Amino acid sequence: MKYIFVTGGVVSSLGKGVATASLGALMRARGYRVTAVKIDPYINIDAGTMRPYEHGEVFVTASGAETDLDLGNYERFLDLDVPEGSNITTGQVYLDVIRKERAGDYLSQTVQVIPHITDEIKRRVREAGEKAGAEIVIVEVGGTVGDIESLPFLEAIRQLRFDEGVENTLYIHLTLVPYLGTSHEFKTKPTQHSVATLRSVGISPDVVMVRSKERLPESITRKIALFTSVMPGRVFTSYDVSHVYEVPLALEEQGLGKAVETHFGLEAMHPNLAVWQNAVKILRTPPKEVTIAIAGKYTAMPDAYLSLLESLTHAGIANDARVNIKWVNAEELAEEGGATPEDRFADVDGILVPGGFGIRGIEGKIRAARYARERRVPYLGICLGMQIAVIEHARSIGLERANSSEFDEYSPHRVIDLMPEQLEVQGLGGTMRLGDWPMEVRAGTRLAALYGIPQGGTVMERHRHRYEVNPAYVRQLTDAGLVVSGVTPGMEGRGAGLVEAVELPDHPFFVGLQSHPEFKSRPMRASPPFKGFIAAALARREGRQDVTPSVTSAASS
Ligand code: GLN
Repeated sequence: MKYIFVTGGVVSSLGKGVATASLGALMRARGYRVTAVKIDPYINIDAGTMRPYEHGEVFVTASGAETDLDLGNYERFLDLDVPEGSNITTGQVYLDVIRKERAGDYLSQTVQVIPHITDEIKRRVREAGEKAGAEIVIVEVGGTVGDIESLPFLEAIRQLRFDEGVENTLYIHLTLVPYLGTSHEFKTKPTQHSVATLRSVGISPDVVMVRSKERLPESITRKIALFTSVMPGRVFTSYDVSHVYEVPLALEEQGLGKAVETHFGLEAMHPNLAVWQNAVKILRTPPKEVTIAIAGKYTAMPDAYLSLLESLTHAGIANDARVNIKWVNAEELAEEGGATPEDRFADVDGILVPGGFGIRGIEGKIRAARYARERRVPYLGICLGMQIAVIEHARSIGLERANSSEFDEYSPHRVIDLMPEQLEVQGLGGTMRLGDWPMEVRAGTRLAALYGIPQGGTVMERHRHRYEVNPAYVRQLTDAGLVVSGVTPGMEGRGAGLVEAVELPDHPFFVGLQSHPEFKSRPMRASPPFKGFIAAALARREGRQDVTPSVTSAASS
């Protein structure tokens, strides 16, 4: 197993995750089995309890881990489901070591950061690689060198070179090279200092990657090589591009893949980058375009909906179209004298209500769903967005104060209610219904057509929720026209029959899913519900209102 360690310096939010994922894509395109591990030096056990407004979305893995959004980048760029244990935090490491200490596993020893914490970190990194059956493991250390909290992790990756040998380990340091407009200069000093800080903990980078506005002139990369003692030709620029899927191509062009091959003594290979080339071509010169409104809560923080935006992009690529996003603040839609759905949605081709928690913006989202239903605008409801669609339907058939017990415990019609398995749950960390769960898609539904299984069948999608459609209301809702197109297949005592998906039959496209298909969408394989949604939005834009979206590719893996 070969290890690539990616550290960052100068500032945070440099796009280290995308750079890491892009490097992974270059090795994957050479046929290697690659996985990636994210180290987050915070004390939280996972990202599940953190604010999306600050950290971006919580990405959910197949195994049900609630992780940093970079894991989503890895899955999309590497086209893999990362195994359990791919997001390591300080909290997890300490919790384990302290448990072992209490169990007596270290009897008679003084338990210390070195070696006990560092050993546990190394064990976890190796295990994540082994579980993925990887030939190359890329380990991204979150944060910035010099942070107190990342020190034990840096020490662990320093030791890994000692354990595994130079020929099996590669250190990449990512920094920022600012451009000063006043003096028309690229400044390398912060990079020099950052590498010096990394050296002070015993790590000398083999490759320096810099983020900058533009591709750096050779004089600057040579200067960086000289001051940081990396070999000439081992300085790469990750310059600003219009779409992240250009990054692998930009790095390959500069020879990053070759540099990794040379360092590890691997055979020189020709990478197959067709996926990225095709994506970039469509994104740059899209034959078609659509505009989708997202009626959500975090409209000023696109990273809070990263996978959702990516899956819309994938669905666009699959339909030869660019997907423009119109952010609609759902709270505004419900205010007295605020924006009306007519104001906000008149110029869009589709409406998407994403997942979410808490009561803010709920009434506005219900209005958005009503507008989509009545005006026959394509609608895709994801998780909370499906629950919203069900509440709206219930209200429209006379259950006036219908609601979710998440928002109104005293509603006379709690059409969305806590799942029985949630009743005994204590605490909020990692306690939802999480990860891959099967959905039985019913024959003859639009959903079955979307997944390419007209006779019905089982597909897997990711979940993250506590509430479900209240089984006591299903009969009434379906008698009034709502179609339940997906359910949880029978499993002993584990929510058999739970509503997984709903749709409206007499509508160009009105689909809601309790799951989050955006977490499984890939640039090379758009998520079927998203692909169908964009096809329907295109049909609306082109005036072909009632055309059933064409669905070809098989859906589930
Ligand atoms: N808040 C809802 C629930 O817990 C929806 C969750 C979501 O959209 N991810 O069921």
